[in-house]
Amino acid sequence: MAGPTTAGEATRAVVDLRSDTVTRPTPAMRAAMHAAEVGDDVYGEDSTVAALERRVADDLGFEAGLFVPSGTQGNLCALLAHCQRGDEYLVGMDAHTYKFEGGGAAVLGSIQPQPIVHAADGTLPIDALERARKPEDVHFARTRLLALENTWHGRVLPQDYVIAAAAWARSHGLAVHLDGARLYNAAVAGGVCVRELAVPFDSVSVCLSKGLGAPVGSVLAGSADLVRAARRWRKMLGGGMRQAGVLAAAGLHALDHHVERLADDHARARRLADGLRTIAGIEVTAQHTNMVFIDVPRDRLRALGAHLRAAGVVASIGYLPQVRLVTHLDVDDAGIERAIEAFALFRPRG
Ligand SMILES: *Cc1c(COP(=O)(O)O)cnc(C)c1O
Repeated sequence: MAGPTTAGEATRAVVDLRSDTVTRPTPAMRAAMHAAEVGDDVYGEDSTVAALERRVADDLGFEAGLFVPSGTQGNLCALLAHCQRGDEYLVGMDAHTYKFEGGGAAVLGSIQPQPIVHAADGTLPIDALERARKPEDVHFARTRLLALENTWHGRVLPQDYVIAAAAWARSHGLAVHLDGARLYNAAVAGGVCVRELAVPFDSVSVCLSKGLGAPVGSVLAGSADLVRAARRWRKMLGGGMRQAGVLAAAGLHALDHHVERLADDHARARRLADGLRTIAGIEVTAQHTNMVFIDVPRDRLRALGAHLRAAGVVASIGYLPQVRLVTHLDVDDAGIERAIEAFALFRPRG
């Protein structure tokens, strides 16, 4: 699809607030992909993939990294590497790994999830973790791993909680994995480097294809041993890619050029939330980093979706209990104003 060619067309382009996964590679990113040196990465011969894996491992403070096609596969490779058949992992009831990844750890790894109800701030209370952990006994699955998610619904987990939860896990011999799909958003929001947020963990998976704007890819980072095990699982899962340097180049470009600008997405989400708060009938329930959640009466959701679409605005409606709006690289200030205007013009009957 051709990009907008005139200012007029640009204003009419759809404002897609469903997710930060919808970004398209910028011309500069495409140029970096075009210029990438490649080789067969399954033979370990793609220097661009190797550079990306090194780069993310260094950023996060780990020995090694593994480039995978998706965040789902990064988390799954990590779970398979940490846990054996009959093991259990503690995970948030609404965590992506538990709820939105097809139950992969259970289906493919015979790893039992033990879901934990989140506190309002997204944390998994340590007393709830303590109650859920199984003692060594033939009746029980072996509790092996705690998995956290940061950001969670856009929220940055309090780092003192993360440190305490990881220390609790370690004291019981559990490993700790972070689904850090949006960890760069958390770092930018908190004014810290991602390494600081990654320190408490044994493994961290980050997405390049969310707010960072790459078309494809995630990186799982951890110890050399863990990544070696994960690499074997990646191959088994069909994630061994050949001349993947064209994709890795997009990831490297994103890390060089699209990290600091996440602050713009956060500012636009704030502006969007502020604008929506002035509109009667819409309740903004949360705004964190690049996400805004709103409550709209259930019987108006379909009409709202249709109204927004007609106005050239797309939102994630009916997929989560609340309406979710996500800012990203392909939504500018004018797009935010158009979205606010579209919501303001919504006149539900009744
Ligand atoms: C998107 C996402 C993933 C998985 O990413 P995919 O690349 O879509 O498989 C994992 N965790 C969280 C929190 C996510 O938002």
